[in-house]
Amino acid sequence: MCVAAFGKVTEITGKNALVSFRGALKEVSVALLPEVGIGDTVVVHAGFATEIVSDPRKIYRDVVTTDAYARQLLDTIEKENKRLFEPELKIMNFCGTHENTIVQYSLRDLVPCNIQLISGPGCPVCVTPEEEIAMGLQAARREHVILTTFGDLLRVPTRWGSLEQLRLEGTDVKIVYDISQALDIAKNTKSQVVHFAVGFETTAPGTASVIQAAGNIDNFSIVSSHRITPPAMAYVLQNSQMDMLLCPGHVAMVIGTEPFDLLVKKYGIPCVICGFEPVDILQAILQALLRRGRGGDSVINQYEYVVKKSGNLLANQLIGETFTLKDASWRGVGVLPESRLVLNNRYSRFDAEAKFGLRMPQRGEVARGTCLCGDVLQGMKPQLCPNFGGACTPDNPVGPCMVTNEGACSIAYMNSASA
Ligand code: SF4
Repeated sequence: MCVAAFGKVTEITGKNALVSFRGALKEVSVALLPEVGIGDTVVVHAGFATEIVSDPRKIYRDVVTTDAYARQLLDTIEKENKRLFEPELKIMNFCGTHENTIVQYSLRDLVPCNIQLISGPGCPVCVTPEEEIAMGLQAARREHVILTTFGDLLRVPTRWGSLEQLRLEGTDVKIVYDISQALDIAKNTKSQVVHFAVGFETTAPGTASVIQAAGNIDNFSIVSSHRITPPAMAYVLQNSQMDMLLCPGHVAMVIGTEPFDLLVKKYGIPCVICGFEPVDILQAILQALLRRGRGGDSVINQYEYVVKKSGNLLANQLIGETFTLKDASWRGVGVLPESRLVLNNRYSRFDAEAKFGLRMPQRGEVARGTCLCGDVLQGMKPQLCPNFGGACTPDNPVGPCMVTNEGACSIAYMNSASA
């Protein structure tokens, strides 16, 4: 019980706050800290936030700089970087969780300054285009429909409004923490339940498993905005002029290493499957530098203590049995071939798009607006967006990258606001 944990306040409702403990959200009491604000790092003890940390970067930065192994990795990175003697090395981290660790632990400041750590398009909520969210809005507006989805997606603004706005107007939109809760809701109501499913290969097996378990229930369906990552990584390797790529360890945990090997063979750019702790990322950067200029036609698996060559066979089987692939638009990237998982013929009875005649607006109907998330997803620094921190904050997000904990704008804001 007597454990103090550091977390970042993401939402405040009265005397309670939603606090992110490295991405895991928990509600705690802030009754002892009336002055607390969104973005503050707090010390939480037995469910109560008891103090605001005045210099949160110090906690995380010191974790790295005082750790002997991390120090050794940083020294070796510096040595290897000198050997390479390149004016600029661009390393893209595909995944929002990597970006979180990089920002939180100040890794950008700790590596040599010619090494640019660039944030990539690996946030599933951020890449879901507004025309797909429009189908969720259409479903929610139907009579006798309950729309369920994850909290992040609810707040994503589109030109047609957000699911959160519909909820405030009285539409039946419910937040669920996993899709099985949506199925449970369906089992206990006469209304139709439509679940808006987003996520990469890490989330899709859960959706597949629930669809297969749904049996003959006829009031449950999904809009599937699930994406697979290799097409987006191929896009990055082909178009973004990166020197190296850090690949998402959790996705590799599901799909195995082979899809990444194919990318390395095709594009000849060092790719490292990477874990999420600061030393994982430092190790991966070092491994990428060591590979640079030395060839090699397979992915480097830094996360080998988790990722198996074959991935998770059962998870892959579930995906294969339930979904088929379709070309799909990714926000900021455009249409990527065979990158969206949609229900196959066997499970088409759970397809909400067909069931309710949901219609994705044509691309010409989609306005760009003032949000530069598309550029952020391709590596632009969030601080370069004129809306950042002014018109656009986590309290009042203009685009999806400011909504979710995995979004580069939100990560940058949350770590600068309290620095
Ligand atoms: S700061 Fe806001 S408006 Fe600008 S790119 Fe990020 S989410 Fe979009």
